[in-house]
Amino acid sequence: MARDKDYRNTEYCPKLNKVEEQKQILEKEIKLKFPRTKIVYNKVNNRDSIYHKRFAQIYNNKCAYCGALWGLLPVESFEVDHFLNEASFPDTTEGREEAGRMANLSWSCISCNRGKRGITIKPPYEDLLNVDNGNIAEVFKRDRDYYIRICDTYQDDKFIQQFYEELHLGYETRRLDYLSLQLEGKYQVEKDEKRKHKLGESLSILLKKRNRMAVTGRSL
Ligand SMILES: [Zn+2]
Repeated sequence: MARDKDYRNTEYCPKLNKVEEQKQILEKEIKLKFPRTKIVYNKVNNRDSIYHKRFAQIYNNKCAYCGALWGLLPVESFEVDHFLNEASFPDTTEGREEAGRMANLSWSCISCNRGKRGITIKPPYEDLLNVDNGNIAEVFKRDRDYYIRICDTYQDDKFIQQFYEELHLGYETRRLDYLSLQLEGKYQVEKDEKRKHKLGESLSILLKKRNRMAVTGRSL
């Protein structure tokens, strides 16, 4: 079966498209509507705001780090992530504005977001791990069994290893998310009602298992 080169996608997933551009447009719109808003993060991270959903759509509703789909997981399991963590910026009003600017935000599942909170990304990793332009898909890959792994080039890179571990990218839940995503993709395109029903059943069993694991936070 053909696989997408980007470990975050199955063959059914739409590709990320002009993420940086779309984010800029959204930021302009927010600033126009709310001229006094200094920290854009506060607008897009607010679950009741339409900008929250619009922001998620830019990322096809998928975690920018692990590829999990928002619609398959509990609604509260996603949030807006600071790509460079807040500790990377001065503890001043300007620093907080800078951290919360649109270019520094990405859509993330809670597990990835919380995991990377303590990680300070510095050059050259800023560019290497860029989630918006897909650079991160050169650093990690999906193996034959659907686990996320570090690509050969970065196997011995201590920072990449730390990133992989802190975000729990090697966890079983990441694999189940991918399998669910694949089943969901098949489900969407299946025309035969009987087969569609079966796929739906399998998907719901898989999601039940996955969500039980998320509650315990365990890898297996
Ligand atoms: Zn994630």
